[in-house]
Amino acid sequence: MVIHHTEESEDFNTTDPTICMDRLRHWFCYHVNQLGWSDIGYHFLIDANGVVYEGRCLLGDEPVLGAHALHNNDRALGIALMGNFSAQLPTTAAWCSLEQLVTWQCQRFGIDPMAEMGWTFVNEDLRCKKIKRPTIVAHSDIRTTACPGEPIAAKLAELRQRVAQAL
Ligand SMILES: [Zn+2]
Repeated sequence: MVIHHTEESEDFNTTDPTICMDRLRHWFCYHVNQLGWSDIGYHFLIDANGVVYEGRCLLGDEPVLGAHALHNNDRALGIALMGNFSAQLPTTAAWCSLEQLVTWQCQRFGIDPMAEMGWTFVNEDLRCKKIKRPTIVAHSDIRTTACPGEPIAAKLAELRQRVAQAL
């Protein structure tokens, strides 16, 4: 599972449901109409009010290929927190939803949140390297990117533990 954020700036960090829906539409239009993808690239998105949106749908128990983590899409669900979290954490509501969603997906797909698995790390020159990382990672764990922001990346160890306790 790869955790992302959606925005390059904090301009859209808001709890206003209208703006959240606008941004959801924006990302759908960008991924589908501009990039020509079959659906939004992430499997799930979470807004600042903790509302979870289905992105690329998952039918039954077979994950549908996402488009969110170069060279890792064949093995990873993509969950995006809506906003930019380079300098702040998401809201408590968003974080609670993330925890519940990750717990649900671990149950659904038999993922051990405390285990490690093979990933492909992609650097800024798009060079690839095989690495081992936890089953739940920040995008920046497997690619040279600012996504999803250091505050989130630093909190994932705690998230994995809380998910393990909830399972
Ligand atoms: Zn990302």
